[in-house]
Amino acid sequence: MKRAVCPGSFDPATNGHLDIISRAARLYDEVVVAVLINESKACLFSIDERIEMLQEIVADYPNVRVASFRGLLVDFCRSQGISVVVKGLRAVSDFDYELQMAQMNWGLAGVETLFMATNPLYSFLSSSLVKEVAKWGGDVSAHVPDVVAQRLAARLSREREAER
Ligand code: ADP
Repeated sequence: MKRAVCPGSFDPATNGHLDIISRAARLYDEVVVAVLINESKACLFSIDERIEMLQEIVADYPNVRVASFRGLLVDFCRSQGISVVVKGLRAVSDFDYELQMAQMNWGLAGVETLFMATNPLYSFLSSSLVKEVAKWGGDVSAHVPDVVAQRLAARLSREREAER
């Protein structure tokens, strides 16, 4: 069985993530969406919330499942029998860092990284930009799945209440 992983923080998942995940699902028998648990990174959504949203988002894809991991991606890959990492490339700005990671992961464990050119519709889209726009009341519903738009609105209105 050919298995690939789409790793990330997914804080929160966007239509750009879903585009890459769904395209990877056409190429591999199974795609694991792996949410990185990184306690030192301040996230808007908890790991459980991010996983719940992703599970809802990928529910229509029978060969996609959601998992989480801590530590090295290559160790997660080894434990799950995964030999390929699929990453979306938005622009040249993504390239330097992604190339370093890909070369390190190959060197550490022989895990391959395949880069997928993002759909131009999503090349400006990032989780951090979505959070920033939503925080200031901008409408992000065209850029994220419905479940994410709803959770963002609920979370940010709760935070505004708390600030009052
Ligand atoms: P990280 O914490 O590594 O920045 P993200 O959750 O923001 O993780 O993104 C995970 C991965 O999803 C990225 O490394 C990239 O491969 C892909 N990705 C994110 N946004 C987009 C997008 N708009 N188009 C294509 N791929 C994307």
